Amino acid sequence: MFTIKGKTTDWELVIGLETHIEVLSKSKLFSGASADYNPTVAPNTQVSMVDVAMPGMLPVLNEYCVEQAIKMGLGLNAEISHHSKFARKQYFYPDLPQGYQISQPAEEPPVVGRGWVEIMGDDGNPKKILIERAHLEQDAGKLKHDVHPTKSFADYNRTGVALLEIVTFLDVKNPENNSYISSPDEAERYLREIREIARALGVSKANMEEGSMRADVNVSVRPVGDTKFRTRTETKNMVSFKFIKSAIEYEARRQIEIYENGGTVSQDTMRYNQGDGTTSVMRSKEDALDYRYFPDPDLLPLDITDDQIERIRKTMPELPAATRARYVTEYGLSEYDAARLTETTDISKWFDTAVAGNASHAKSIANWLISELFAHPENWDVKNAVDTADSGMPRIIRPSDLSELVDMIAANEINGKQAKDIFIKMLDGESGTPREIADKFGMKQITDTSAIEAAVDEIIAASAPQVAQYKAGKTGLLGFFVGGVMRATHGKANPAVVNEILLRKLS
Ligand code: ADP
Ligand code: MG
Repeated sequence: MFTIKGKTTDWELVIGLETHIEVLSKSKLFSGASADYNPTVAPNTQVSMVDVAMPGMLPVLNEYCVEQAIKMGLGLNAEISHHSKFARKQYFYPDLPQGYQISQPAEEPPVVGRGWVEIMGDDGNPKKILIERAHLEQDAGKLKHDVHPTKSFADYNRTGVALLEIVTFLDVKNPENNSYISSPDEAERYLREIREIARALGVSKANMEEGSMRADVNVSVRPVGDTKFRTRTETKNMVSFKFIKSAIEYEARRQIEIYENGGTVSQDTMRYNQGDGTTSVMRSKEDALDYRYFPDPDLLPLDITDDQIERIRKTMPELPAATRARYVTEYGLSEYDAARLTETTDISKWFDTAVAGNASHAKSIANWLISELFAHPENWDVKNAVDTADSGMPRIIRPSDLSELVDMIAANEINGKQAKDIFIKMLDGESGTPREIADKFGMKQITDTSAIEAAVDEIIAASAPQVAQYKAGKTGLLGFFVGGVMRATHGKANPAVVNEILLRKLS
């Protein structure tokens, strides 16, 4: 368990995330305006009368966004509500021309109900993180304060684009249920899992750098062994894994210090300061916003049929959790390796391509991938899971390259040392397949016993004192003889055969 050491006790972290993902759709949640608000689009060119609430304009629910929400809900192993409602969340802010955000009220069932995602817990085992709900809502516009020295500008292109807000669940009535995020690393793994599920389903780009995935981070702490949850704070609008982890850790330490000095934590909304990695109070509970949800009179309740859900369920691709399970059961990989290989769908596709038709070597391919290729992203075009031709420096190592290299070791064509050498040559830009490289540099393993036997005889003849010592019981000297034979054969001998012949001749 991840804990932070305090003065008198160890503290554990309780983390709840509210993750917003921008729903991929041609048009906005309630209007026909384009939902592509990327920065190259001129400001305020993709705004309909509905988005800015011109009198008499009526919102029309975009069915495609609803389907996207259902798809994501199924990806989160969640219940899909047959009936849910939209309401107006009232507040004033210049990025919100309607004066309210259409959302799904907390008191009513949202389109996506209870569910869970599986991540790798800090102990290396799969861990379920419970989901409370996911609801559809409108995004706000963007204010620009850096265009003019004394004026601020508003760009409403993003106004009304569909967001799906995914909220993790905390079993407050049953605080021993630890299916929640409890460390900064688990928070990152959870967010990456959400991202990969959303991408695999085509529901969202879920890209933090581009702002299509953002998270509000709720944190509280409690002494290890304590059964009650304590007051949490919420740090708003976080857009990078690194900052989220740093904010969680800072906030936890700040709360622990307050408790240790006899104080109480108040349920504040915080902002994260990127410059120094600290958090500070944005607004306190006393001036907490009372949003006042009003039912939206212009929108009908959202009804979803079983048929609709089943039709969408049939289109679902394999999601990361299923891929991990497949790697563990079919290939005998460890949970840890399976988790590494499914960090992104690109990686698992690459691995699947390398393993295709070569399943018995899946474990070695996984080992090479994780311990060697992960360290050389410049030589690894992970997006390119198809075996396209190499395009020059730095040399791209393709799935088929790794597959062939592992085949050659398994077939005793090369030994481990030679495989490493071939790999390094590939990293250095050598073209050709591993087999071609082996041929070019004469890297064939010698398994021919007579050649190895000759080398063994030679070293035994030249090392009388060591032979005597070995026979007197100093068996550790075997390595000395193996080394001699390997040197004599320029590293090409099959080490297993060398061992076998040496043991026979020295006994
Ligand atoms: P709000 O609507 O006020 O933001 P919610 O009840 O929806 O609050 O909770 C928001 C998030 O905060 C959820 O992910 C929830 O699990 C989490 N949360 C609630 N209580 C705690 C707590 N004591 N410590 C940490 N996280 C919490
Ligand atoms: Mg909230």
